Amino acid sequence: MYTIANGIVLKGLDLAPVKSNIVVDDGRIIDMSPDACEGKIIDVNNSIVCPSFFNGHTHIGDSFIKDEGYSLSLSDLVKPPNGVKHKALSNVDDDVIVDAMKDTMWDMVNNGISHFVDYREGGLKGVKLLKKASKDIPISPVILGRDDSFYGDDPDLSKVKTAIRKLLKVADGIAPSGFGEIGDDVADIITCECMRKGKISSIHVGESRSNQFDSLERFSKSEIRRGVDSNFNQLVHCTNSMGDDLYSLAKSNVNVVVCPRSNATLNSGVVKLNEMVDLGIRPLLGTDNVMINSPNMFRELEFTLKIMSLVHGSYLNPCDVLKMATVNPCYFNFSKSFIDISQPAQFIVLNNFSKNPYLSIINRCETKNILYTINRDYNNDIF
Ligand SMILES: [Zn+2]
Repeated sequence: MYTIANGIVLKGLDLAPVKSNIVVDDGRIIDMSPDACEGKIIDVNNSIVCPSFFNGHTHIGDSFIKDEGYSLSLSDLVKPPNGVKHKALSNVDDDVIVDAMKDTMWDMVNNGISHFVDYREGGLKGVKLLKKASKDIPISPVILGRDDSFYGDDPDLSKVKTAIRKLLKVADGIAPSGFGEIGDDVADIITCECMRKGKISSIHVGESRSNQFDSLERFSKSEIRRGVDSNFNQLVHCTNSMGDDLYSLAKSNVNVVVCPRSNATLNSGVVKLNEMVDLGIRPLLGTDNVMINSPNMFRELEFTLKIMSLVHGSYLNPCDVLKMATVNPCYFNFSKSFIDISQPAQFIVLNNFSKNPYLSIINRCETKNILYTINRDYNNDIF
């Protein structure tokens, strides 16, 4: 048992700043108040206590080709099967992929991330490689798999179903790349099988304008609308929303993940985050492919806050932006906690630089400013 004393605690789902002590016992918060005090005392002297970070979208399998393919188009870089990424993945030993994934996971741990949602390539084997690689690392991966049987003009749907069922025995869900690679029949099987098993179905949508227009031409609806109508429960990017796309997202209550730094790197556009928040959508932030971006939420937070006011002409509430990297996953059935009595203890303690704790984190904190990382699953005994 121990007490984190005198912190500025970002409490609950609102991240309301309160001066408080936090008592942790057996990985769980058992008391919170200015006077609560049990076990060893760690006085953090007005440092900020923030829920650990959740990286809503990664591809850590491409960690071994960092910074390759800069300035190439989205499809030349990452589209299966001929993009730079997939060619590299098919021509490298598993050991190289695994070692690079381990380095990335440690990088995320050191940056205050306790969970990440990964689109894992390589079918069942790829999912198993990531599971094994993460085994001794204090981080919780949410692994979404895919299979080559999904692709082609006339996929064998019974093979697709079998592949999905095998994947779902080890993976947390299924995530094909996009509607450019799969048809509606495959999409329907993915979402039905995931729903049946209580797992996550996810897909990239609306990342590029051209994909949105192609979809409108071929299917009379945008990619984003196809994602909603196919009942995927997590849609990634939604960068180039058009028409009533954002309303359909808000109405569907689908889990939206945005990746502003990745979109900027790939020259894909700037997501309408301000409008999303106004419509009541609670997006998650993700850092996307490690080959193009570091999986660092401090960098994602700062870029996101600043690019949105620059491009959309109105300021986002910094508290809303921080929620996208911390507590918003709590609304979508991930095993992510917030800071309150009886919640699992999963938080970071950060240097405090200003009177605004949200801007202190977003504008000023770096990895070196993490003073303590508390993760209920891994370090109950550190104090
Ligand atoms: Zn992605």
